[in-house]
Amino acid sequence: MLIILALLATQIKWIIYSIRFQDKVFEKSVELALSETMSTLTADKPFCKKVKDCLECDTVRLETQLATSGVWQKIHDAIANELKSYDIDLDYEMFILENESEELKTLESDEKGLYYSRCMGGLIGYTGYQLVVEFPSRTRFFFATAGYMFVGSVVLILLLIISLFYLLRIYNRELRIAEHTKELLNNVSHEFKTPLSSIALASNMIRKKRYGTDDEKLGNYAELISKENRKLQNLVESLLRLEAVERNEFDYNREDTAIEDLIKEAASTCEMLLEEKLGQIKYDFQSEGAPVFVDKLHFVNVFVNLLSNAMKYSKRNPNINISTRIENENLVILVKDNGIGIPAKFQKYIFDKYYRVPTGDVHDAKGFGIGLAYVKQIVEAHNGTIIVESTSSEGTVFRIELPVIKA
Ligand code: ADP
Repeated sequence: MLIILALLATQIKWIIYSIRFQDKVFEKSVELALSETMSTLTADKPFCKKVKDCLECDTVRLETQLATSGVWQKIHDAIANELKSYDIDLDYEMFILENESEELKTLESDEKGLYYSRCMGGLIGYTGYQLVVEFPSRTRFFFATAGYMFVGSVVLILLLIISLFYLLRIYNRELRIAEHTKELLNNVSHEFKTPLSSIALASNMIRKKRYGTDDEKLGNYAELISKENRKLQNLVESLLRLEAVERNEFDYNREDTAIEDLIKEAASTCEMLLEEKLGQIKYDFQSEGAPVFVDKLHFVNVFVNLLSNAMKYSKRNPNINISTRIENENLVILVKDNGIGIPAKFQKYIFDKYYRVPTGDVHDAKGFGIGLAYVKQIVEAHNGTIIVESTSSEGTVFRIELPVIKA
């Protein structure tokens, strides 16, 4: 970061130096061109006489005199030739001013750098007049000389700034992933610990025959072991899915499907949890079985994830509404709950892998932060979109949009 900033500073310093340098080169070149023009013209005696005659006549007719006698054109051509030899190909204006004129004094004091004057002493034998050359714009000269370097530098600086921001973004993302992975490891060990110690306890009881002759007790221990074992199996399955999500490696077996059937199937899978939480699910299907082309198994999982989240992240009895409708030839599915909601500042992260909304040290709802990442992956793989709308402590709505198969 510091190195890039130092590079940027050097580059900017170099550009400023280069502009100043070009400015000086320009000034010197014009001055040299003017002096050489004067020397060339001074060597041409008949021409000097012509100029002198013109300047000695009255000022009202001076301009016409200079133009008609060809003096003006000759001076112009001579200057143009000299400037060209210094690679200066710019438009310029040319005029003659008296040494004492007010105009010359203001030019000398205010407009230095745009006006270059030279005494015509050598040409006319006395020092009363100055030949002035004015450049309305010098930009083209800078572009011709330092233009490519300048543009190159600006592009380089822009590239540096863009890469700096890009690097920062990657760095922040990696940092977040590292934090999430750490959190995931904590979660995983935590989730494995409880069933493992329950199994160890129950099997110890059986080993030491702590049930005596009570067969019911023995049955309870065995039931506990089997229940905890199921939990472990589910955990392993979640971890395996996590790996598949990580690699984005799913096979899809797409079929024409009425989404309502998949929603009902997912709801029946969640029945036990729903009963435990004393919740209810209401349906409002208005899509009239409009078929979508999806993988049934994955989409049942999608709804199981959304429904179990709706129940998990709820402090009161979960009230879930699932509705479907057709909008702009797309099937829209809304899964709405009355749970704890998701604060606005966390909403953009919830579909990231391993992300869990921070709840301080209290983690009553367990999970690996992978469910919504999986949901998004599946929906997007079917050319759909998923968005969330939520208000803290009021509830959350997940909106899925899928293309409907045209008849
Ligand atoms: P997990 O539930 O395993 O933590 P998810 O990817 O399913 O992971 O969800 C990510 C996070 O989004 C959750 O940790 C939770 O904080 C938040 N979340 C998801 N669904 C809901 C919901 N219906 N209500 C409130 N918060 C939710």
